[in-house]
Amino acid sequence: MPTVQRERLTVVHGDGAWLTTSTGDRLLDGTAGLWHANIGHGRQRLADAARAQMTSLETYHVFGRSANEPALRLADRLAEMVPVAGSKIFLTSGGSDSIEAACKLARLHWQLEGRPQKRIVVSRERAYHGLHAFGTSIGGLTYNRTGYGTSSLVPECARIPTHGLDGAIEVMEQIGCENIAAIITEPVLGTGGVHGPEQGYLEGLEEFARANDILLIIDEVITGFGRTGRMFASERWQLSPDIMTMAKGITSGYAPLGGIAVAPRVADRFFTGKDAPIFRHGLTYSGHATACAVAEANIDVIVDEALVTRAAKLEEVLVSEVGSLRTHPLVREVRAGCGLLAGVELNADADAAAVADLCSESGLMTRVIHGNTLQISPPFVVTEPEIELLAATMRSALDHYSTARV
Ligand code: PLP
Repeated sequence: MPTVQRERLTVVHGDGAWLTTSTGDRLLDGTAGLWHANIGHGRQRLADAARAQMTSLETYHVFGRSANEPALRLADRLAEMVPVAGSKIFLTSGGSDSIEAACKLARLHWQLEGRPQKRIVVSRERAYHGLHAFGTSIGGLTYNRTGYGTSSLVPECARIPTHGLDGAIEVMEQIGCENIAAIITEPVLGTGGVHGPEQGYLEGLEEFARANDILLIIDEVITGFGRTGRMFASERWQLSPDIMTMAKGITSGYAPLGGIAVAPRVADRFFTGKDAPIFRHGLTYSGHATACAVAEANIDVIVDEALVTRAAKLEEVLVSEVGSLRTHPLVREVRAGCGLLAGVELNADADAAAVADLCSESGLMTRVIHGNTLQISPPFVVTEPEIELLAATMRSALDHYSTARV
């Protein structure tokens, strides 16, 4: 296989789980881009949906009394799908936008409840919630927060340890639950290194939130739409979020879109009576008509091809194939078992970026995430032999790296 240029990998084409670069190399997309190309690349059905919508009405905003039909249809459909009973849907244009909306809404909720002191948003160390101001401030990867002033861009954010319910509760009790607006967590920490929840952890957080009048925000930007083998990870861990964020898999990346699902406890007051308060938040592209039409086609594909069941079945294959890398001397830990998601953490003295380069030279696209970890999250259309190939390519890159550095 010819050498792929190291400095930049320019992707010019995608089909299914495969990519083609500007130098003509074929790479297996081991990460589905940024965990988002869930239905695979190059789907005509989504291109057709975009074209049909654009030629009719590219978009129309959803501020005030304006709306567009794809946004309304999608919102109705999402409200039926999400594990947030009776929810209202607020559409955004991506994951970071969804986080901003969720956190602002959580603070506004308590303000309107007459408890304005409840402003602190609690998140986990190693969490990643995007890079807008709120996302940066609640993020648990310290290097993403440095350089922008004091400890966080948005004041009144606090963090609990990545693992351990007792430690989390201790921190929140020190802060004082009367000051906490919301706890936010990814069901599986993604960019933080792919860490699934300890047994009972998420359920325990939810219980604590309920008992102490704290809103629970579940960030399903990565996990939503099938990644953990359920349509939403909240179903897998039986969570009932007050607010759930979505993006990425909502269109599988074919158009930028995001959203939040909001439980009646928070949403209802905005729809009650002529003096109902207004959530003064929104974006030009909230509910973009073409993006929403693409999302509908994407969800059709997920349902018609039973891709969530497929992701659930492939979890086992990933656990066994990628799990076998555990015995490699360069590997510190393999974390898998939460759907089509895995993290291969290398020993601290191994250069994960160099290993990722070796993988791409041998036809596998992967990337380094937090903690010297290689990300594995292929599109749901990946086959068993392709997962075997993925693990074999990674193993041989690790071998190559070991030999070269001796
Ligand atoms: N939340 C999580 C869990 C994410 O992984 C990401 C992006 O990777 C975001 C939020 C931000 O999404 P976006 O990059 O679409 O703004």
